[in-house]
Amino acid sequence: METMDMLLREIPHVDKLMHSNLILESSLPRALVADHVRKTLAALRNGILSGAVCRVPEAEELCDMALNAAKEEYGTGIRPVINGTGVILHSNLGRACLSEKAALAAMRVAREFSSLEYDLKTGRRGERMAVIEAQLKRLTGAEAALVVNNNAAAVLLVLTALAKGGSVIVSRGELVEIGGSFRLPDIMEQCGCVLREVGTTNKTRLNDYEKAINEDVRVLLKVHTSNFKITGFTESTSVKELAGLAQKYDLPIVEDIGSCALLDLGKYGIYEELNIFDDLRDGADIICFSGDKLLGGPQCGIVVGRSHYISLMRKHPLYRALRVDKMTVAALEETLRIYMEQGRAESEIPVISMIAQTPEIIRNKANRLCGLLRDCSINAEVIPTKSTVGGGSAPGQELASFAISISPEMNGNPSEFARAMLSQDKPIIGRIEKDAYLIDMRTVYEDDLEYIAEAADAVRKEIR
Ligand SMILES: *Cc1c(COP(=O)(O)O)cnc(C)c1O
Repeated sequence: METMDMLLREIPHVDKLMHSNLILESSLPRALVADHVRKTLAALRNGILSGAVCRVPEAEELCDMALNAAKEEYGTGIRPVINGTGVILHSNLGRACLSEKAALAAMRVAREFSSLEYDLKTGRRGERMAVIEAQLKRLTGAEAALVVNNNAAAVLLVLTALAKGGSVIVSRGELVEIGGSFRLPDIMEQCGCVLREVGTTNKTRLNDYEKAINEDVRVLLKVHTSNFKITGFTESTSVKELAGLAQKYDLPIVEDIGSCALLDLGKYGIYEELNIFDDLRDGADIICFSGDKLLGGPQCGIVVGRSHYISLMRKHPLYRALRVDKMTVAALEETLRIYMEQGRAESEIPVISMIAQTPEIIRNKANRLCGLLRDCSINAEVIPTKSTVGGGSAPGQELASFAISISPEMNGNPSEFARAMLSQDKPIIGRIEKDAYLIDMRTVYEDDLEYIAEAADAVRKEIR
């Protein structure tokens, strides 16, 4: 009992720790540190009272504990990482990286006043989206265009504006859940419309659509099955086939294509039907897609199609709630400008350059990193691997790539190595395959190679 009292009396005072050199020299906010000092001391007191702790650490050790806890709270948040997964559009890693020009454009308008809604010719109020809409019309050939916060918002707006109080026909094979939270039936409910599922999971024919049409139906909806592929005996109805039906019953065809490439990616091995040009020509009235998937721009939802329907959306009160901010406007404008000139996207838009990279270029990067790693005596080799586009684009399609494989013999077990790579200032995200730690080089920037080698060297020394 006496020793417990002695221990309790040994606990230093908050003020004493707050005036220690360690804490005085820290750049963390003082109130935050003080809070964690108090918590550290309270935990110590409880530990002594419960008998779990029988020694009071030195003041320096207590300061360290409090500073680490404060740093953890203060330092958590979004920051750049190195993507060694080979998944180009990784939804957990922020999807598309912006082009240099788009990122700079966003930064410029973020730091200064801008002509966001100011017409510089008349000196009066202007339209924030005028340039983007003109660009989208030119690039897609659509009659009209509109941009909202993301593609989920686009679907919400389209269905609310066009189908509220009515019903929407969708094929059972296209009832998707994307990214764990975008579920079509839930969206429909929010839009105040009734979902009419037609056909079966693997087969939906034109006749299935026609049988479901009655006076409640407002929209024929097609959804791109972005993150899975139904293979085998499948049959779906194309926009072209639906067009006659849509005309006969005067119903719009709305297509949620998810991801859209404004150029032909077939020559780079992506054959998925992600171009909207054919569908617009074949009779789709409205098509929506994400700005930060294959397009390679900022997060937003882009809607293109017939002016009549687009203007119904623009007038809807929901549009105001879903509108994009000035940084998005600037970044999207700059991204679309790149597409106006042939050949620029491949060198300027990271998503497109990562897809267009030849295996030789990737192998060269891998060889360079491999050399740097071996210089630090790390057991690394270059192996062939497969990357994917991700982000619900081109499911099931793989791109030949090369990875750095770091084998465990010298470097502890791979999961310990992987965890340590995650705790670097610029965290490195690889994957473990057959007991080796892999970094797919397709998604790694040339500029990061030296950093990766230094980090791996530090990790190896730390866990040896
Ligand atoms: C990705 C995707 C969405 C969601 O888009 P966000 O921009 O993430 O809101 C919706 N529909 C389809 C078909 C998709 O692929």
